[in-house]
Parts: sequence; C-alpha cells; structure tokens
Amino acid sequence: MKTRIVTARGIVPRADSFVGKSGRAGLVIQAGRVAGLLEGTGAIKRAEAAFGSKAEDLGDVVLLPGLVNAHAHLELSGLAGRVEPGDSFPEWVGQVLKHRFARSQDQLVEDARGGLARLSQTGTVLVGDIDSTGATIQALATLESAPAVVLYREVIDAWDPSRTAVAMDSLTEPISKKSTAVEGYSPHSPYTVSRDLLALVAEQQSRRPGPVAVHWSEMQEEIEWLESGAGPLASILGQSPGCSGLDLLFEANLVGPTTALIHGNLPARGEPERIAAAGATVVHCPGTHRYFDRGDFPLGRYMEAGVSIALGTDSLASNEDLDLLREVRLLLARHPKLAPSRVFKMASEAGARALGFEGKVGCLDVGAAARWLTVRPKPQWGSQIDQGAVFEALFTAE
Ligand SMILES: [Zn+2]
Repeated sequence: MKTRIVTARGIVPRADSFVGKSGRAGLVIQAGRVAGLLEGTGAIKRAEAAFGSKAEDLGDVVLLPGLVNAHAHLELSGLAGRVEPGDSFPEWVGQVLKHRFARSQDQLVEDARGGLARLSQTGTVLVGDIDSTGATIQALATLESAPAVVLYREVIDAWDPSRTAVAMDSLTEPISKKSTAVEGYSPHSPYTVSRDLLALVAEQQSRRPGPVAVHWSEMQEEIEWLESGAGPLASILGQSPGCSGLDLLFEANLVGPTTALIHGNLPARGEPERIAAAGATVVHCPGTHRYFDRGDFPLGRYMEAGVSIALGTDSLASNEDLDLLREVRLLLARHPKLAPSRVFKMASEAGARALGFEGKVGCLDVGAAARWLTVRPKPQWGSQIDQGAVFEALFTAE
C-alpha cells in the first residue's frame, strides 16, 4: 500500500488535542485515511524510513479536520435573496414552495451543484442534506470532488391520512449504489408528519438503517398546534395529537445517537435532559436563527444537560451563505463567552457523530478521512501554540 507522509507546524486532531508541541508534526496517510500522527522531527524521520516514503512538507501551517455542516437543503440554493422572512412562517414556506416549483429539475441540479461547490470552497467536508427532489444526487454524479453527503430523504403528509402511504414511495428504493451519498431519513417535522407516517419511517429505518434528521421545536406555532390544536397552524393541519413533538419522536423510536434534531429553539422543561439521555444531537443554524429573528437560542440549557450541539447553515432561502465558519462567527457574536474548542467541536465532531460518521470525519484521528483545513500561525504565537490559539485564528480569518 502506498503511504504518504505530510508534515506541518502542528496538527489539531480534534477539538481537545494538539500534536506538534516540539514545533513539527506529521500525518501518515494510507488509502485516503489517517494511519498515524507523528510528534516531532525524530518520529517523522523514523516513519519516512519505516514506510520508505519521503515526507511532503506543507510548510508553516497547522492542520485541522475539515468542517461538518449538519443541516442544509442544497436543492434550495437557487433561492438565495428571493425569499423574505414574511409575517409568518407559513407565508415564508409558501414563498419557498412557489419559487422551488418554478424551477426546472435541471435548474435544481445546477443549484445543488453550486451549493456543493460553495461547501468545498469554505472547508466543509461532510454535509447533512435534506432532499425532496433528487437534485443533490444528480449534482454529485457530475462532480469530481465534493463533500461527503448524508442524503436525508424527506417525507411529509401534513397529518392528512390520504397522503400517508404515498409519502413513503420516495423511500421504497435505496439510493443507487453508484452514488457516493449515504442514505438518511427525514420525516420533516412532528407537526407535518403524522404519527402513522413516523411509524412507517421508523419501520423502514429498522430494515435499512441510516441516520435521521427532523426539524423540531423551531417556533411557538408548531408547539401550540401539537399540544392543544390551537394557533395559526390549526387551519392548515387536521386533528392535533395533543402531545409534544419530542413525545411523538420518542414514541416512534426515532431518537438515538444518529438523530439530528434541527433547530430546537423552544425545548420544554426536561426535554434537553431526555435528548441528552438518548444521545441525540441538536443542530443550531445561527444564520437562519438571525434571519427569522428567533430570539435567544437556549444554548446554556442544552450544554448544562450535556446535549451534543452541532452547527448547520440551513438553506439559502433563509440564510446568506453556506460557509460554516460564518455560522461560527454568528454563534460567537451571540454567545461571546463560549470556549473556542467547544465551538470547533460543534463545527466538526458533533456534526459527524449525528450524521453517523463519528471517528471518520470531523477529526484527524487514526482511521479518519485525511481531509484538512490549514491555518497560518500568527507572529505573536512564538513557539507556543495550542489548539485554542489555532481556533481563534481560524474563526477570525476572513
Ligand atoms: Zn431546514
């Protein structure tokens, strides 16, 4: 097997570690994966001799794992700047659907291609994409290099029993083996997916396992309708189930270590603890949060409960960019006391875990994909570098 060795000033294998305290570090790569981490020039020389491979010097840079965008809708990338927040969420959804249906499948594929290219350009190596048109799969087939994609195929029946069985049609066939995308499931949200449809998705998921992504607890209106049948959604949806969205998801057995609960802006008392106990991840999208002017995100409550938090961009119908580092900056602007290593974890390991890629992406441990970002050391660092300084340089770089 051909072995490649690269060297750099330092390597941050994950949010809480640093290799290169002596001023030099190396990465052994076999078949596109990390096969070893080398601390110092002695270890690098020994590895060169052992593998018969001359190290390639990447220069005075520090390597970090590529980023993970845990939530996007790439097929909506052509809607950038076309949709206003509107006076209500249903009004926004109406605009999104109008614009999406006005686009041909070729345009949607082109839009998804643009989205994938923007992710690559901004350091994202894995994305959790919600798909309702197949556009991302088609786009991926035309690209030579792209981020790894978990394709969550979306189902919706709006609690209308006549739509329940039909909604499952899109999930019957697995994703083509020719595609590089990994199959996931996205029952859109407890207020748009009936109890019966959740059960059907869970049944399918137990036959053909894959990660799950659900929009959950984004706004007061959905909670009102779910729990009591009241509020503005009552005129659109049928009979309310009379319980919380999280209850419905637990009842269907859809909350586990590879479940991404998207948004989670308004958790009820005790819900962060239930999510933490199930090992599920809450995905926060700072740009979309700001677009809809959602108020404070309950980050402290989730962190106290031990919930894993990942970051996403959501779509360009509710955000300005698919650049995850911009999301990091927006997050830090609202939560300036967050430790940089904590934030980096949200942008890497936490997303990878939710998407079913723990240890394979979001870190540079042995066994992980050898895909990295680089950061140039700042003059003031001197010989003392640690991961905290590296994260600060990454987050403030334009
Ligand atoms: Zn979304």
